[in-house]
Amino acid sequence: KTACVTALQLLLLPMPRVDADLKLDFKDVLFRPKRSSLKSRSEVDLQRTFTFRNSKHTYNGIPIIAANMDTTGTFEMAQVLSKHTLFTAIHKHYSVEDWKNFAASHPECLEHLAASSGSSNADFEKLCSIVEAVPALKYICLDVANGYSEYFVEFVKSVRGKFPQHTIMAGNVVTGEMVEELILSGADIIKVGIGPGSVCTTRIKTGVGYPQLSAVIECADSAHGLKGHIISDGGCSCPGDVAKAFGAGADFVMMGGMLAGHDQCTGELIEKNGKKYKLFYGMSSDTAMKKYVGGVAEYRASEGRTVEVPYRGDVENTIRDVLGGLRSTCTYVGAAKLKELSRRTTFIRVTQQSSHMFT
Ligand code: 5GP
Repeated sequence: KTACVTALQLLLLPMPRVDADLKLDFKDVLFRPKRSSLKSRSEVDLQRTFTFRNSKHTYNGIPIIAANMDTTGTFEMAQVLSKHTLFTAIHKHYSVEDWKNFAASHPECLEHLAASSGSSNADFEKLCSIVEAVPALKYICLDVANGYSEYFVEFVKSVRGKFPQHTIMAGNVVTGEMVEELILSGADIIKVGIGPGSVCTTRIKTGVGYPQLSAVIECADSAHGLKGHIISDGGCSCPGDVAKAFGAGADFVMMGGMLAGHDQCTGELIEKNGKKYKLFYGMSSDTAMKKYVGGVAEYRASEGRTVEVPYRGDVENTIRDVLGGLRSTCTYVGAAKLKELSRRTTFIRVTQQSSHMFT
C-alpha cells in the first residue's frame, strides 16, 4: 500500500514539461521563390498604413525602427531615418530640454518618433514631462526586459489611462497569450523578442528565450486576431533577416546591431591598428549600467555585451542596402507591396543559409 501511495504521489508531482514543437530562428529558413509579374524591384512599395487598435491613430511609413538603445535611438539617427519614413524609438536618457530643442528644430521628424520609458516611477514622470513638452509626439515605447510581470501589465494600463490618444508600443514578450494580455491592457504594438539581440546575453545568463522567427509567427497571429500589431525586435543580422521577419508576419522590424557603428550613433570613434570602430553595447550591459546608474546592482547579472563595431560611415548607405534587399525579396516572391509579403511567403527549412567559402 505504501509503495502504491508513493507511486501515486510521484505521478501527482508537477513535472517539467518539454514543448517538442520545432521552433525556428531566421537562420533556419529561406524564402521559396514564386512566379511573379513584377519587372523590377523599383516597382515594390514598402510603405504601410496601419490604424492602431487602441489609439485609433493612423500610421504611414516604412515600418523599420531603430532600437531605443542609447547608441542607435538617437536624434541624429531620427533625422536620417525619418527622411526615408523609417521610425526611431528614441532612447530614454535624453533630457526633457533635449526633447524640446529637437522638437523645435526638427518638427518634420516627430511623426516617426517614439519616446521610450521603463516602468519605474522616475521613468514614467520623465515620460509625462516629455509628452507635455512635445505635444506633436504620438508614440510611446514602454520597454522592459521582461514583459511578463503583472506589474508591467498594470503599468501599461495606467499609461493607457493617462494617454488615451497616444500609440503605445510595449514589450518584450514572445508568446501569444502575453501579446493578447498587453493589447487588452491598452498597448497597440507589442515588441516581440527575448534573447535574440546581437548584444544580448539573456539566453546565456538565464536560459530563457524563444527562437525569433517562431516567436514572430505565433505572436503576429495572436496580435492580428485582436487587430493589434507587433514589432519583431532583435536578431536581424542582415537585410535577409529583416525580410524574413516581415515574411513571418511582423508589422514592424526593430534593429540595433544593424544600425550600429554609424556617424549617427552615440560614441567616439576608436582607432586601433589603422582601423576605426565604434562602441556598441546592450542596455543592460556593464557599460550602460555604469554610464547611467553607476554600476550593475548586486542582485542582478548584466545581460548585455559590449562590442567594438567596425565604423560604417553614414547610416544612409545601410538604409539603402536594407530597403534594396527588402524590395528584392518582394520581387522574388511576387509581392508588389510589403503588405503582401507575408501572404506570399512560404519558408523552407534549411541547414545552411549561404556559402562559407570566402568568409
Ligand atoms: P539587435 O538588432 O541588435 O539584434 O537587437 C536589438 C534589441 O536587443 C533591442 O531592441 C533590445 O530589445 C535588445 N537589447 C538591447 N540591449 C540589451 C541588453 O543589454 N540585454 C538584452 N537582453 N537585450 C538587449
